[in-house]
Amino acid sequence: MTFATLGLIEPLLRALETLGYQTPTPVQAQAIPAVLAGRDLMAAAQTGTGKTAGFAVPLLQLLTLEGPKVSANSVRSLILCPTRELAEQVHASVAQYAEHLPLTTYAVYGGVSINPQMMKLRKGVDVLVATPGRLIDLFRQNALKLNQLQTLVLDEADRMLDLGFSEELANIYRMLPKKRQTLLFSATFSDDIRLLAGQMLNDPLSIEVSPRNVAANTVKQWVVPVDKKRKAELFVHLMRKGKWKQVLVFAKTRNGVDALVDKLQGLGINADGIHGDKPQATRQRALDRFKASDVQILVATDVAARGLDIEDLPMVVNFDLPIVAEDYIHRIGRTGRAGNTGEAISLVCADEVNMLSAIEMLTRQTLARHMEQDFEPEHRVPDTDASGQVVKKPKKPKKPKTSGGGGKRNLGKWVESGEVAAEPSIKPVRKVPVFNTGPRKKK
Ligand code: AMP
Repeated sequence: MTFATLGLIEPLLRALETLGYQTPTPVQAQAIPAVLAGRDLMAAAQTGTGKTAGFAVPLLQLLTLEGPKVSANSVRSLILCPTRELAEQVHASVAQYAEHLPLTTYAVYGGVSINPQMMKLRKGVDVLVATPGRLIDLFRQNALKLNQLQTLVLDEADRMLDLGFSEELANIYRMLPKKRQTLLFSATFSDDIRLLAGQMLNDPLSIEVSPRNVAANTVKQWVVPVDKKRKAELFVHLMRKGKWKQVLVFAKTRNGVDALVDKLQGLGINADGIHGDKPQATRQRALDRFKASDVQILVATDVAARGLDIEDLPMVVNFDLPIVAEDYIHRIGRTGRAGNTGEAISLVCADEVNMLSAIEMLTRQTLARHMEQDFEPEHRVPDTDASGQVVKKPKKPKKPKTSGGGGKRNLGKWVESGEVAAEPSIKPVRKVPVFNTGPRKKK
């Protein structure tokens, strides 16, 4: 199959060719014809599957071939994203796909001045990529009208709910014209997402290109048990031992990010951090420098790193496990992309055993454990498996023998556990918007 056989117009084919896209990915093969046919879509696609082109390319074709010219302060397509970084990234892709089309594109998000955004919207924009909060601000300040809207895309819809945007989504829903095409993309298809889809979509086509909630199988995943207070030391040890070149590290909190970055920089390691407290420009700069390999270690919170597409990232380290198990899938989805292999290492302390168990249940696999010599934890991490069982009574750990210091170190012992299949039963707590408007009119 080629993009031409999917019925795409020449300017789009040219743009895709320039980008080196030769064959459509599975999500593109299914989404492109459906969107071109005007269908609403409910697509479960992991990040890294090519989903952005899956919705953006046909949407651009429809905007080129159908509908009136955009009016002042209006938009014809709206793509909602959970974070500023993702909005920037999606916009960059959309702009590349639209290179040879007579369409305008723009991205708006919070954390930066609203005035330039208001100015830019004056002439109208064909495709607007936006985070929910800033979109509502612009709408309330009359900088934006949605009566010309033809297509709405909810990208990473599960994440928008996780981040507490349910109220914003309900508000935006009230601002939308009834007659429109709606495309919902989500890495996971939880019951909450199905409920949201039931309210927002009209007779949607469901497509699911990867098994539900299964982490990318091109990523080698393993766990190193360690005491909480020794995590930073272990990280530096592993980094030096493995000669890691470019690593994305996830920490649970903003303070955790800052503390690790300070520690690494104090050791002369080229590290930077991104989290929600930092100004957008600083976050973007850190990200750009990391992508350009000017920064070796980027430490991030989940919010800041969501959806980032960094080519060929070989390694992701979970310095802390995520509180919401599904975030684990998103985190490790930063590596092993587009057919490459990657590694995802989690430094797990005894306090995190329930999170580890939840991740194993969700991904339906027991993660291999690797004890690192001289870092064996005093507080043992109880055994877990994919059935959700945690062996509650930990045996008293043997006191690790202290090495003489000068001896040769070996790689430690691998403990591989067999895979245990189990139905996932994790339910992250989410609020779902409640819409009290009537059913949508048929198109
Ligand atoms: P996404 O899942 O949309 O974030 O895309 C993941 C990566 O795959 C991005 O770097 C895209 O540029 C790339 N990509 C998307 N579609 C294709 C394709 N058909 N062929 C090659 N690369 C692609």
